[in-house]
Amino acid sequence: MRLSRYFMPILKENPKEAEIVSHRLMLRAGMIRQQSAGIYSWLPLGKRVLDKVNAIIREEQNRSGAIELLMPTLQSAELWQESGRYDDYGKEMLRIKDRQERPMLYGPTNEEMITDIFRSSVKSYKDLPLNLYHIQLKFRDEIRPRFGTMRSREFLMKDAYSFDLTREAALHAYNKMFVAYLRTFDRLGMRAIPMRADTGPIGGNHSHEFIILADTGESEVFCHKDFVDFDIPGIDTDFDDVAALQGIFEKWTSRYAATSEMHDAAAFDAIAEGERVCARGIEVGHIFYFGTKYSEPMGAKVLGPDGKEHLVHMGSYGIGPTRLVPAIIEASHDENGIIWPQSVAPFDAVVINMKAGDAGCDAASTKIYGELGTAGLDMLYDDTDDRAGAKFATADLIGVPWQVIVGPRGVAAGEVELKNRRTGERETLPIDAVIAKLG
Ligand code: ATP
Ligand code: MG
Ligand code: MG
Ligand code: MG
Repeated sequence: MRLSRYFMPILKENPKEAEIVSHRLMLRAGMIRQQSAGIYSWLPLGKRVLDKVNAIIREEQNRSGAIELLMPTLQSAELWQESGRYDDYGKEMLRIKDRQERPMLYGPTNEEMITDIFRSSVKSYKDLPLNLYHIQLKFRDEIRPRFGTMRSREFLMKDAYSFDLTREAALHAYNKMFVAYLRTFDRLGMRAIPMRADTGPIGGNHSHEFIILADTGESEVFCHKDFVDFDIPGIDTDFDDVAALQGIFEKWTSRYAATSEMHDAAAFDAIAEGERVCARGIEVGHIFYFGTKYSEPMGAKVLGPDGKEHLVHMGSYGIGPTRLVPAIIEASHDENGIIWPQSVAPFDAVVINMKAGDAGCDAASTKIYGELGTAGLDMLYDDTDDRAGAKFATADLIGVPWQVIVGPRGVAAGEVELKNRRTGERETLPIDAVIAKLG
């Protein structure tokens, strides 16, 4: 992408409405724009990051055996009347009427709809286990939307729903998601800690929230410091191996970790003082096992091997991609801007042409930009005629992992400078060496 042809509306000033660093940087880098309270557009740079986050989530969901579909945002109230949640959900639910005066709602979550899909076509235990997920917008009329897309009213959620014949099988499904989540957050460059959690309006009794420690987090959390060093399950994890997954679950729940709602002060105080972490955290994922809470009122049953009908045991599993993007920034930035982990960076590298219009600089820049693009990297080329200082500031602000700096003196010697955004390290290299190193 040539910056001169791109749409990346950088803000020079610090936006006054932004209270936390991720919100400030997302606005300044031109990633998002607020359209009304708690409702955002994702501008091209933000959309690139969001797509990369979603791609990693999707890969890990698929690896664990979950299957993607897409449900609508608008739902009929009838299903929610069946489950009994239409009245219970309260003011967070946006309720609307269509032209026939039929009550509709903008889905805050999809347990009812997926249970309806399931009951309409799955009749036998032979079709289980089943885990269906989608990545779709949700609406919750939050009392206090704030911090940009960290707590918005319209937001994206990956929500998965598992169906099993027995409680035991459902707990294996739960463990699959538990492991998939550990892998997902790790690939996004973050350490998320699973903590015992309250179930809120989703219901159930077996639940973990995945929390990223950050001073600006809205949750108060308590955990053992050992979590920082626990190993992440590898890419070769066998998701069908019941005992292996249970082993990972037990390891990752072997130390104290709870949100304030579930906090047990006595148990926490029993941990040696130097090993206790009492911190703020951001909830980036939440998994629930809730048994027959929805299958019972909605009549979702399958024939078992005994020839009898059984209510299915269900769980649901959420991740918030539009919250993850600011959470990554909270965890990874400096005074000059964002520092993207390579896995979600909007571009892999930016070529900064310090003297656009100079034949030597233009030729070297387009060569590097072209060849690295052909090699499969997502490349940005700053071909604008801004001052060099402004170009460096922009590159630092948007946090692209590598900057290739092309200046007239270097080019005359066949060399360019390579800067690592995270470490700040710079090295001077021949043009072909830069292409070989990054390509
Ligand atoms: P919170 O406690 O922050 O209000 P929640 O517990 O209500 O979140 P869940 O119902 O568990 O949320 O939804 C699953 C995931 O969806 C959350 O872990 C979070 O990542 C994301 N999410 C929930 N509400 C929002 C929101 N208002 N804005 C952005 N992401 C959200
Ligand atoms: Mg909430
Ligand atoms: Mg919560
Ligand atoms: Mg939650």
